[in-house]
Parts: sequence; C-alpha cells; structure tokens
Amino acid sequence: MTQYFNYIDAQWTKASSGNVFESRNPANYEELLGQFQASTEADARDALEAAHRAFPMWKKTPMGQRAKILNAAADYLEKNVDQFAEELTREEGKLLSNSKMEIMRSAQTFRFYAVEGTTFTGETYPCDDPGMLVYSQREPLGVVSVITPWNFPISIPARKIAPALITGNTVVFKPSSDTPLIALRLAEALHHAGVPKGVFNFITGSASDIGAELTTNEVVRAITFTGSTRAGERIHQAASLTTRTQMELGGKNPMIVLDDADIDTAVDLTVQGGFALTGQACTGTSRVLITAGAKERYLDALVQRIKSIKIGNGMGAGVEIGPLANQRQLDSVLNYIDIGKTEATHVYGGEHLTGPGFDGGYYVQPAVFTDVTQQMRIAREEIFGPVIAVIDVEDYDDAIAKANDTEFGLSAALITNDIRYIQRFPLEIEAGTVKVNRTTTGNLVNAPFGGLKRSSTSTFRESGRAGLDFYTQIKTVYIGR
Ligand code: NAD
Repeated sequence: MTQYFNYIDAQWTKASSGNVFESRNPANYEELLGQFQASTEADARDALEAAHRAFPMWKKTPMGQRAKILNAAADYLEKNVDQFAEELTREEGKLLSNSKMEIMRSAQTFRFYAVEGTTFTGETYPCDDPGMLVYSQREPLGVVSVITPWNFPISIPARKIAPALITGNTVVFKPSSDTPLIALRLAEALHHAGVPKGVFNFITGSASDIGAELTTNEVVRAITFTGSTRAGERIHQAASLTTRTQMELGGKNPMIVLDDADIDTAVDLTVQGGFALTGQACTGTSRVLITAGAKERYLDALVQRIKSIKIGNGMGAGVEIGPLANQRQLDSVLNYIDIGKTEATHVYGGEHLTGPGFDGGYYVQPAVFTDVTQQMRIAREEIFGPVIAVIDVEDYDDAIAKANDTEFGLSAALITNDIRYIQRFPLEIEAGTVKVNRTTTGNLVNAPFGGLKRSSTSTFRESGRAGLDFYTQIKTVYIGR
C-alpha cells in the first residue's frame, strides 16, 4: 500500500506521530487509495514556520517568476489529467467526466491568476500639491492557511492557492481527510513546477489535531476556508485581530419555478442542480419554490426523470449520479430523508441502494418531498445530498419571501420568461450568485464567487479578479520633493 507524505520546506516528510490514516473509494470502500500522514500540532507548526521563513524571499521574487511557476503547475495538471481524473473519481466518487473538468479547471485557474496577478496593482491619486505623488500599492499579507472540503478537492484549493502565491504570500495547505490523494497531486504539481523551499507546504491530518495550530498560530496572516458553516464560524471567531479570514460556507439554495416556466427545462435544471454531484455541491439546488399552475406537471415529470437516472460507480459509462462521498454523508443524508418522511409528503426516492452494482458503495436514490413548509428541518438545514424539498408559493412575491427566509445566501435561480420578474429577481433575492433559467450550481473561473448571510464572511470574494483582494493589503504612499 502506497504511503504518501506531507510536503514541508520542500521535503516529503512523515508525521511526527508516526501514524497514518487511509483514503478509500466511496464507490467501493474495500478499495484503499493510500495511506496519509496523521500530522500533529508540531508538524503544523513546522509547516507554518517554513512558510514564515520563506515569505521575505517570495515577496521579493519577481512577478514573472511567480507566474512561471503557476503556469508550470498548470502544465503538470494538464499533462496528467487522465490519471488524476481517475484518482479523483476513485477518491471522491464524482463522475469521471466531472473529475476531468475539475482537473482542467484547476489548471485554468492557475493560468488565469498567472496573468491576472501581473496586472493587479494600486492607484494613483490626484493631489492639490503639485510637488507630491500619491499612490497606493498592494502587498502580500504573509503566511496563508488554506483549509478545504472534499467536494471539489482540487479546484477549490486551486482557486485559493493560485491567487495567494501570485500576490507573494506563502501557503500552508490542509485538505479534507476524505480526499488527501487528489490534494497531494496539487502539491506535487507545485513541487514539479519548482516552487521555492517553504513557499508552499502541504499537510494532512484531522482538524482536531492540526486545525487550531493552522488557524491560531501567530504567524498566520490569513485563513481562507471552505467548508461547513459550523466549522467556519468557529475558526472565524477564534482568529486573532491580525488574521484576515475568508469563509465560504454552506447553502440552502432555492430555485423558483413560476407558472409560465417550461417544465422540461425546470426538471432538467433540478436534476443538474440538485442531483448531479450527488447533491454534494454548496450551490446545489435544495428547495424548489413553485406556483400552483406548474406544480403537478413539474412533480410528474421530475419523478419520471428520476426513474430513468442511472446511478452507479462514477467510472461507469452512462452513469449520471455517483455515490455519496463517505459513510458520514450516507448516514446524514438518510437521516434527513427519514426526517422528511415524518415532516412532509414523500413523493419519491430516498432509498439506500444495495445489491449488485451498489454493494460496497454509499449509494442513495434521489428523493423528492412536497407540501414542505418553512418551519420544517428539510426546508431550513443544509442536507448536502440529492434531496429536493418542494414548497408551494402563491406568486413571485411569496416565492421571494420564502426563498429569503433562510440563514443562508449562497446561490439562487429563477425559472421564467417573464421579464418583470427577471428584472426584479437580482435586486430582491438574498444570494451571492443569482441565476435566471440556469442551475443554482456552477460558477466561472473569471467571475467573483461567494455567499451572503451565513454562507460566507462576505468580506472578500473568491474567484475572478476580485479573488486577489483577499491576499493583498493596501499601503498609501505620499512622496514630496
Ligand atoms: P467541514 O467543515 O467538515 O470541513 C472542511 C475542512 O475544514 C476540512 O479540511 C476539515 O478538516 C477542516 N476543519 C473542520 N473543522 C476545523 C477546525 N475547527 N479548524 C481547522 N480546520 C477545520 O466541511 P466538509 O464536510 O469537508 O464540506 C462540506 C461543507 O462545505 C458543506 O457545508 C458545503 O456547503 C461547504 N462548501 C462550501 C463551498 C462554498 O464555496 N461556499 C464550497 C464547497 C463546500
């Protein structure tokens, strides 16, 4: 069995605990992908100190040289896309086609920031004193802790690490313990690209062992975290005054379907937004708010569509939905399906699939509930699985009120061709990503991404040019003669 190592100060090292943990295939949990280091607080400290030591040198490294390393890392990901995509599917469970897209997107993100970072700068300011030059300049922060979830285990790290490095910060990256292998491939890409000693460090281990060190050590100037609202809030509250935080958290994303909507489109968008990635996207469609004129036709068509969905191993041809990512996910999703059955009207699905083709994996059939009301847990809590709660609404205004009646504000969609509502929707919906006639899921590498309310710290956006802001601080300079 292959054992993989931490990458600290340009050395592939074992954890000081001497212990390892395993990564397994959620489509077949007998299959072991590898053993990874169960790191300790001392290992985390070593990684942070290496990053701290490397910072003054990296800060001064010419932008073109930093960009070259990012591009070389992108080359490495692209060159190995077939192998890495297979590993991603075997480790996380998503479809092979989605894994390929994710690897290519990660490479694209590195290339995007290699260019965008070189044009990111301050401003000059007009001044009444003709003898004075006034301008602002952007500087890196220092050591950045990058902490990420398992659901997009390489593209989310890429969209944090690339802007952090191009702007001159040094990084300690801790991936989810459910997906350490594909995260390690990203570390390998930077290593092969020639990232200097200490500039980028990779460490695996449990949040309880290394989380506090990575987030409260005094050298950490910024924490960029994607994960659950519960964990993100705790980290944010424990961070010191001199540590900047960026928390991208959970969602309970609504899709509003009005009477005039094309029902086939609404069903397709539900399947893509709610069930693709087995419902495990932070922007996944979770609530469908629908008017009476569309509801029955929509429910009938949705159930027919679910019956035809091919569920199975993400490596298989024609498979549309893979397994859930781990046992915790399976237990949690099945628990919510049970809750739904007691609270609401169960329309279809939700079985734990076993038997030929499913044994050894965490498979569940997509589930639909109707007559869901605002107080129900399946209407309020993030399920993070293929479960749709259908909520009756009287009209557009009622839909907006109910869609906004949530602590989350990540993504939202409206399905209609009525221009009156299309224009009002972006103004009235409380969500960081707003879609019309598209799924709640999906965002561009070159556009900002982030949530409102308890879906995000709302301080800084990720992704796009805006994604560079978080990693720089502004100094204002006055030069007289
Ligand atoms: P999680 O919060 O359990 O873990 C995320 C990461 O944080 C992991 O690496 C974990 O080890 C680490 N972690 C947890 N507690 C920590 C602590 N106290 N200190 C330091 N590190 C800690 O989330 P998960 O189950 O991996 O991912 C699913 C969640 O992520 C969902 O809630 C989903 O909505 C959210 N998510 C959000 C976005 C977004 O951009 N808003 C994107 C993807 C996933």
